Amino acid sequence: MQKIFQTNAELKDWLSEQNSAIIFIPTMGGLHLGHQYLIEKAKERKTKKNQIILVSIFVNPLQFGKDEDFKKYPRNIKKDAELAFNAGADAIWAPDYFEVFPGGENSHFKIKVPQTLQNQLCGAERAGHFDGVATVIIRLIRIIRPEKIILGEKDWQQLIIIRKLFQELSIPIQIESYSTQRDQSGFAYSSRNSYLSNSERVNAKSLPHALKEAKIEFDKEKAINLAKIASRLKENNLKIEYLKIVDPFSLKETENINGLCLLAAAVKCGSTRLIDHTFLMQRKPIIAIDGPAGAGKSTVTQAFAKKLGLIYLDTGAMYRAVTWLIISNSIDLNDQAKIKNILKDSELEFKNSSFFEQKIFINNIDVSEKIRSPQVTSMVSEIAKQQFVRELLTRKQQVIGNNGGLVAEGRDIGTAVFPDADVKIFLTASPTERAKRRAIDLKKRGYEFSSIEDLEQEIKERDKKDSERTIAPLKKAQDAIELVTDGMNIEDVLKELVYIFRSKIPEEVWPTPNL
Ligand code: C5P
Repeated sequence: MQKIFQTNAELKDWLSEQNSAIIFIPTMGGLHLGHQYLIEKAKERKTKKNQIILVSIFVNPLQFGKDEDFKKYPRNIKKDAELAFNAGADAIWAPDYFEVFPGGENSHFKIKVPQTLQNQLCGAERAGHFDGVATVIIRLIRIIRPEKIILGEKDWQQLIIIRKLFQELSIPIQIESYSTQRDQSGFAYSSRNSYLSNSERVNAKSLPHALKEAKIEFDKEKAINLAKIASRLKENNLKIEYLKIVDPFSLKETENINGLCLLAAAVKCGSTRLIDHTFLMQRKPIIAIDGPAGAGKSTVTQAFAKKLGLIYLDTGAMYRAVTWLIISNSIDLNDQAKIKNILKDSELEFKNSSFFEQKIFINNIDVSEKIRSPQVTSMVSEIAKQQFVRELLTRKQQVIGNNGGLVAEGRDIGTAVFPDADVKIFLTASPTERAKRRAIDLKKRGYEFSSIEDLEQEIKERDKKDSERTIAPLKKAQDAIELVTDGMNIEDVLKELVYIFRSKIPEEVWPTPNL
């Protein structure tokens, strides 16, 4: 294909002929290996035949301040086109100002980015910059109507603002983001690097080096010494505009370095402004997936954990195993003293024979299949509501997740077991849909059941017991994202989970080639 369009009319004619879904990569040109990576990722992740990758090149005057580098910003369409096409772009759209803003400066709506996001990091130094970014992105997507838009994590604040903008305006376009690309010395690619003289480039490299060193120190000592970073930057003649640890989503400065944090800096090297960052995280990610019975959690959580290369933890299996033990020792479900006694000396463990074959053992008995029986299913909620049982199993789960690196499913993961989970998802479906899924599962396991209506009734009862118990009831954590899976197959749910994961955990933190 390899088309370059300058006018909207040409672009629109061509797009209507293609009848394709567009993956859109907006740029200001001056393309480098960072852009190349985004285009390559777009190509690699093309899932449908009729998708096309469109790269726009538009130096947006609205995002430059009065004394900034709008005039000298690198413009070389021939070079840019070569890089974009070689990387896999199908078309380039390089409109002039009036194509994007036909009525000129005063005749189009402008987006105002909320102060809480605008006043942080780069926004504090560059008044109106993000209003300009948000305004142009809305104009561009109005013209192009893409299915998906791809952005780099390098401009983290921009990414967060655009995500929030799309969310608040309910713009149904997916945003995918990919990691900052760096040269061998660790220096992040940026169009503005072309302004640097050789000697400035040497000084500029102290920015990524200082951030990297700080991260290494943080991993060892769990602390960041901002003064030490600052003095290293100053020694290299870099003038600091900001150097901060912020919450990566609110962008507000934070002293709480337990969760994911962003160490971000902007400096002036001569007259060139450079930004860079590194993420800080004390442990690997924790993903909590909660939801009612039969929402399809197990199948997708297992597949999801595999995709991410994380441990899969089925906490329901733990409650079921304990229930099985109590039933098979003929202990009355309400005899708390006996229950306590038998559990105190019992050993509960997971063993993996392969990733998809996680077995659960209680006192060295493999109960993986036994715990799925209708008898265990009908009694488990009675056991799961008892304080001693909950305390014991919650503690065990927290030990398993001590260093992070797991996807845990259950009822109270995001609320009680891992309230600091990085990603919280509440997976649910209507009782009717869940009953149908349960029926398929029971058939597969060779169990009889009377009717789907009865299964639906049982599910509702279990929901009621799980959500009305006093300790750690089933409920959506306030910061969880709800996903209603009616009508979705496993692949659809998995795609959605990956999408949610990526909006919370940057590729720079958890690179997963098979996502
Ligand atoms: O998810 P699954 O159906 O295997 O869970 C079985 C039961 O275990 C639930 O109905 C609930 O009573 C209990 N459970 C719980 N807390 C969890 C996981 C499961 O109370 N975190």
